[in-house]
Amino acid sequence: MSLASIGFSFIVISNQSGIGRGYFTEKDYYWVQEALISKLSNRGIKILASYHCPHHPNDKCECRKPAPELVKRAVADHGLAKKELWFFGDKDSDVICGRAAGCKTVRIDSNYDKLERADYEVGDIMEFYEVYLNEKIQQQSKNT
Ligand SMILES: [Zn+2]
Repeated sequence: MSLASIGFSFIVISNQSGIGRGYFTEKDYYWVQEALISKLSNRGIKILASYHCPHHPNDKCECRKPAPELVKRAVADHGLAKKELWFFGDKDSDVICGRAAGCKTVRIDSNYDKLERADYEVGDIMEFYEVYLNEKIQQQSKNT
């Protein structure tokens, strides 16, 4: 059982201010990213694409979450406008970003401040999976 097996595709959207702060290089980031993508791929989870903001928060760029810019780029690049879009994250900036981009938002439990409320607040991905399937079943039973 997995989200991939029921038709979800995955795109990674991340803030990597460590690049803008000089903690690591863009090349370092890609190296780690490639390793992660290949690890996930071995578990049957295919990452369609990955977008990141490399800027320092003080740069006032357009692409740093909670700005929805990178999601909009992903939607345009991959023709996702008519798909059901879900944004998973742990921070308020994820909830705000996903909502601004027109996605349903899911917060996986975290210790960050929770000033924003996501559409779905769950402890882990399995809990989301159960909630999601239950809703689909209810929708189908209404339609029949
Ligand atoms: Zn940026």
